[in-house]
Amino acid sequence: MTDQSNGSKPPASSPFGGLSISILDEEAKGASGPSTVRTAEGRVDAKVVIIGSGPAGLTAAIYAARANLEPVVLAGSAPGGQLMLTSDVENYPGFEDAIQGPDLMAAMRAQAERFGTRMIDVDIDRVDFSERPFRVWARGVEYRAQAVIIATGASALWLGLDSETRLRGRGVSACATCDGFFFKDREIAVVGGGDTALEEATYLTRFATKVHLLHRRDTFRGSKIMVERANTHEKIQIHTNTAVQEVMGESKVDGLRLIDTQTGIERHLRVDGLFIAIGYRPNTEAFREWLDVDEKGYLVVHDETGSKIEGVFIAGDVHDHRYRQAVTAAGDGCKAAIDAERWLEAEGITEAATTTAW
Ligand code: NAP
Repeated sequence: MTDQSNGSKPPASSPFGGLSISILDEEAKGASGPSTVRTAEGRVDAKVVIIGSGPAGLTAAIYAARANLEPVVLAGSAPGGQLMLTSDVENYPGFEDAIQGPDLMAAMRAQAERFGTRMIDVDIDRVDFSERPFRVWARGVEYRAQAVIIATGASALWLGLDSETRLRGRGVSACATCDGFFFKDREIAVVGGGDTALEEATYLTRFATKVHLLHRRDTFRGSKIMVERANTHEKIQIHTNTAVQEVMGESKVDGLRLIDTQTGIERHLRVDGLFIAIGYRPNTEAFREWLDVDEKGYLVVHDETGSKIEGVFIAGDVHDHRYRQAVTAAGDGCKAAIDAERWLEAEGITEAATTTAW
């Protein structure tokens, strides 16, 4: 279930127990090739810079580091990605009894660092992919890289209500696949009128006794077949022209204050959970000048993890609006690192001898 506060965890501002910016002031040791990490007049040179520190970015870092590429990860000012907002992760393989999202990300980070990854918790400002080395700027520092892996993910859109933020992880979620299980035999609501909302409402009927689908208009953006499926499902009740004014509950969701968008009449709906399914925004702003995006704003990949610029690779939710799972993002990060390593080798930037037995 999504959760921002986690009793046994470090505070959200320091999700990794105080680790933050690594100062890159030493020559990298043992790596071959011309582009080992070092500082020079506020500049950092690296063979591989990975942008993003969710499962895709950190898995790419683990693989790149084990290939002796000494990757630099620009992890973002809130590192760890969407799993930092998740408590029980029950579908990431290897954890029979579930693992807390922040714990999983801290473990991935430590694993990447163990093999020589440099983590820098900064947001990037802009990039220049016009020539190699590629350049990335973050908080006044210029990073130069022979290869770049973009793993900046996507962010779920939220309604923007204070009560929604306060109860996130306490009944408010943006991921039915992650959190649906926790609402077994409960009554819940889903907000949205697109395919995501329709799909999530249908999916959630596996667990919930009843699913209320709340849509602010009376026509749906979602496909006809999905609307029809929701309409005829015995457990789904559709409420059109309905918007959420407030999520009710002290320590957990116990209801919603709704408003009819046509008449302005307010009413109360008793539910135990609220799933927000109003879309995602891929974090692609910095790259739009250089790379192709599809009609939904996601980066376009060529040949698995490539982009239209050789040496710039793409992994995870920043291009994937279909699966959006931690495990698929991690798999993508692995593929991007392998592709980057092989490409660097083919370009003569690294020696074949650095190749790790993956
Ligand atoms: P979407 O099509 O953009 O729909 C978003 C929905 O959320 C709209 O109905 C919108 O209402 C509503 N919404 C947006 N902001 C809101 C707010 N602040 N308050 C209340 N409601 C709000 O997004 P999506 O459903 O995530 O789908 C994205 C794309 O992925 C679509 O192309 C979709 O077809 C595709 N997709 C496909 C599948 C599938 O084929 N299985 C599954 C999921 C998604 P309005 O309509 O009033 O604007």
